Amino acid sequence: MGLDATVRCRCFEEGKLKPGPVPYDDLYIDGEGYIASRRLDARRAELGRRRFAARYGELEKAFYDWSDHCCEHENGDYVAEWVSNWAGVAEFESRVEEVGGEAEFPLLSHMLPHGNGGVYPVELAEAILKELDRFLEIITNVDE
Ligand SMILES: [Zn+2]
Repeated sequence: MGLDATVRCRCFEEGKLKPGPVPYDDLYIDGEGYIASRRLDARRAELGRRRFAARYGELEKAFYDWSDHCCEHENGDYVAEWVSNWAGVAEFESRVEEVGGEAEFPLLSHMLPHGNGGVYPVELAEAILKELDRFLEIITNVDE
């Protein structure tokens, strides 16, 4: 078990998706960064899981099958990388804490999730890369 990171492609925003089982204008990017269907989400919430599956199960399966291959990027992943195992994540956070923690590295201190899921805002990417460079500079100067 570990932590993987992905960067979603921009094919949805650029209108490059292959035609699928629901109309393009029904699609949106959900809070976890996945392509979703407004209509299917609304029917699922209305009907509950069992009734939804009975009425829309085949369409939902077709939708998920399509969404895995709806553009040139498998699962819509522009980049997919294994980050570390959970012990490595804990070690990283411990290192950040040792060299100043939240006061010194406010973004790095809260960057990594502690469970499945999560989205890191692209707006913070440049700032966190600067923190990461500073962090790496500090820890490479620490005598182990
Ligand atoms: Zn794509």
